[in-house]
Amino acid sequence: MLDMSRWCEWSADTWRGFVRRVPADCPRCMTRARGGRLCPGCASGLIDSMGTGRCLVCRHPQVAGNCPDCAAQAPAFDRLIAVFDYVGVGAELIRLYKVQRRLHLSAILADALATAVKHCDPPISPSTILVPVPARHEGIIQRGFSPAAEVARGLSARLRLPCRPDLLHRSLAGTKQAALGRRARLGALEGVYRCGPVPRGAHIAVVDDVLTTGSTLHHIARLLKAQGAATVTGMVLARALSRVGQTDELARRFD
Ligand SMILES: [Zn+2]
Ligand SMILES: [Zn+2]
Repeated sequence: MLDMSRWCEWSADTWRGFVRRVPADCPRCMTRARGGRLCPGCASGLIDSMGTGRCLVCRHPQVAGNCPDCAAQAPAFDRLIAVFDYVGVGAELIRLYKVQRRLHLSAILADALATAVKHCDPPISPSTILVPVPARHEGIIQRGFSPAAEVARGLSARLRLPCRPDLLHRSLAGTKQAALGRRARLGALEGVYRCGPVPRGAHIAVVDDVLTTGSTLHHIARLLKAQGAATVTGMVLARALSRVGQTDELARRFD
């Protein structure tokens, strides 16, 4: 018989280990998995989406030794950490999380991003401050949650780094970015975000779910650096690849 009185003495890690052993369904394909996590097939599909030969700054595949995205627009951020490309299993997980509003997936996604951050080379500064990209107010009302903020919160707990959503605000009156292409987004981003007081010399990690055109991260990095940030790293779940029309279509769907 279970001794219920001892359960309250379990640490968070003990609970996590217990839950992970409980049989449940893989959230993507519904085959048997452990603790509601991805089954081995889906997990490997996620990890394998990113191949080698990536740009060291923005993680886009290089073409003849050059990055087409960085050549089109030199990014203001210092580097990007991304878990998977926006294709296959990864794209479906993002769809389930953002479109189907499966909030519980934030734990799996934060786990995956935390693992990517822990293994990145060179490692991030131990004094890094996490700042989620603020969602549109209409989006929060429709979904009931902010996808980037939930991942940032999970990441903060897993990496033991401070999460400061107060350092970046989104204007209520800002233009809806989702309807715009890359060039138009850059112009329309003016005035949409404003920074709180950024500690001088701070290392900031801007957390988002999908990097589509990269314009938003570029714009926010410029703002943060103007306020005194020393470095800005992007931390995202999915990295969309720039094929003609694709990233703008993603922007329309997921902004
Ligand atoms: Zn699966
Ligand atoms: Zn690049």
